[in-house]
Amino acid sequence: MNRKSQARKRTRKKNKGLQIAAHAQLPTRYGRFTIYGFEGRGAQEEAVALVRGNVKSRIAPLVRVHSQCLTGDVLTSLRCDCRAQLELSLKKIGQAGAGILLYLPQEGRGIGLMNKLRAYELQDGGMDTVQANETLGFAADARDYEFSAQILKKLGATKIRLLSNNPEKVRQLESFGIRVAERVPCQPRISKISRAYLKTKKRKMGHLLEGI
Ligand SMILES: [Zn+2]
Repeated sequence: MNRKSQARKRTRKKNKGLQIAAHAQLPTRYGRFTIYGFEGRGAQEEAVALVRGNVKSRIAPLVRVHSQCLTGDVLTSLRCDCRAQLELSLKKIGQAGAGILLYLPQEGRGIGLMNKLRAYELQDGGMDTVQANETLGFAADARDYEFSAQILKKLGATKIRLLSNNPEKVRQLESFGIRVAERVPCQPRISKISRAYLKTKKRKMGHLLEGI
């Protein structure tokens, strides 16, 4: 068996654990979507996908892979640009007619909610977001996109246009078998408060941000 078919076999094996728990209609401010709940084999492996239109078509659908941010997405925090990116993504996918918003419960770039708040405390004492994560013993970005790639494959979206400023996300999705035909910048208007945070993301984490 050659290496490619071995890799395919491994992927099939891994995908076996991925289940659609449920799907339902979800009308939103940005259009009508179908919401899918996905469960993997691991305890941590669950996510939702908001799907609009035909995402299996040959025209690569617009995809946003969004990591949960309770403080930004729900509580309207301006420490980060998460909510603004989430809304811009839903708006763009709504306008595009076909696309997927994948919402992953990996809070705080994968370190969890309580540790994210600990990192905020350190940042209030003068550290930047990368220094704070590292002081707590975590990588600057502990996220892994293999589960996301499995979900995209399950939805039939193997060639996508990715709404993201993060080259690492592009690299990882491609390494897990998703073809990113285009990276579409996801840069909403940002507040003065989140500018320093975004500067760090650009300088230390290689995010591609214009005008920051
Ligand atoms: Zn955030």
